[in-house]
Amino acid sequence: MNAAAPAKTGFLDETKALACVHCGLCLGSCPTYLETGNENESPRGRIYIMRALQDGRLSMTDSTVRHIDLCLGCRACETACPSGVQYGALLESTREYIEKRHERSLFQRLLRRFAIEQIIPFPARMRWALGPARLVRKLGLHQFLPKFARDAVGLLPESASSVRVPEFSPAAGEERRGRVGFVSGCVMSILFGDTNVATVRLLNKLGFDVVNPPKQICCGALDAHSGNLNRAREFAKRNIAVFEELNIDAIIINAAGCGSTLKEYGHLLHDDPEWAGRARSFSDKVMDLTEWIAPLIQKSKPNGEGDSDSITYHDACHLAHPQRITVQPRDLIRAVCGDRLHELPESDVCCGSAGSYNLTEPEMAERLQRRKVENILKTGAKTVVTTNPGCILQIRAGLRKVGALDVRVLHIADFLQESAARVNAKES
Ligand code: SF4
Ligand code: SF4
Repeated sequence: MNAAAPAKTGFLDETKALACVHCGLCLGSCPTYLETGNENESPRGRIYIMRALQDGRLSMTDSTVRHIDLCLGCRACETACPSGVQYGALLESTREYIEKRHERSLFQRLLRRFAIEQIIPFPARMRWALGPARLVRKLGLHQFLPKFARDAVGLLPESASSVRVPEFSPAAGEERRGRVGFVSGCVMSILFGDTNVATVRLLNKLGFDVVNPPKQICCGALDAHSGNLNRAREFAKRNIAVFEELNIDAIIINAAGCGSTLKEYGHLLHDDPEWAGRARSFSDKVMDLTEWIAPLIQKSKPNGEGDSDSITYHDACHLAHPQRITVQPRDLIRAVCGDRLHELPESDVCCGSAGSYNLTEPEMAERLQRRKVENILKTGAKTVVTTNPGCILQIRAGLRKVGALDVRVLHIADFLQESAARVNAKES
């Protein structure tokens, strides 16, 4: 036996890995393959690499890790796959295996271990860190920074609101339909406080009491996606315990990336006898805002005068793929703006945001940002509606880069709030 040969390992679920029959039907849905045409940057190629690492046929070199790093985790391949390959689960296990063994550059270590792991999931730290970044941008000093830092500062919104949602917001109007919990999110609560408030108002208007428990913490999505599964599990346990204390019908989330993770707590904790059942019960209650309210909203009258601009919709990956929610957001937009909704070419191809991907892989993120912006401009739409904070920041920054300052990017809750007069509940 060759002493230098890589060891056989067991980090992948063999059944899940063998489900891939190499048909290649996922290739055309994979954003990184669309951009590079390189099989190693495709789902099929990456699964091959994962299995080769597992079987000890491949060493963990920089270039092997690079193919896995370049994956967005968008899971468009799962939607396309006729064999039901659970690519997301394979990717999480592979990333956990890599993170425990692979030595990254000092820059990547600082970025991942400090900025991404120690700041973004903690709203108070993020608020503190954003102060200097905003000042740099306001004074125009970001143009003197290296490209990486310039791009990161460029993602920040021109104005942001960290207004907090109250701990309890009662249903408005005469009909009370129920009581829901609200996940306020990390990025959402710091940069999109107004959107959270709009979400809660919408739920109140539709007859729901909303409870926003102050002890909730980060959903763990960034950790789960970057291979830090143990910390993701700790965050999940804390959230499960917090929401278990509430007497609620559903747990509502308005950020697609977080929603997808919350719905997978059952999978994340399936090996833990104390928590597996509790995690499944929690996940069963999680609903994206759009799937919760779409059946309740009545179609409004045809467009009013002055409403002529067209609107388009960008599918956030983690809503369209892991959650398979594509119809409800469109139904909601059509309910208030009728035929002004125009489909976006490649609407479900990732915009390059992908959690912290636009920080760790800025080059590919920028290529996908450009691709998304070009598609948006083809529609002629003046409003882009979507459902995830990362997508909003990424697309807004891309539109600013090409000078398309007349195109707005709105979260669907803000869009519905703007059209509040036309958002009416169906009679139950
Ligand atoms: S992941 Fe699915 S679609 Fe892609 S090659 Fe494997 S079996 Fe085919
Ligand atoms: S998760 Fe997205 S980027 Fe990664 S292989 Fe699948 S389609 Fe490609």
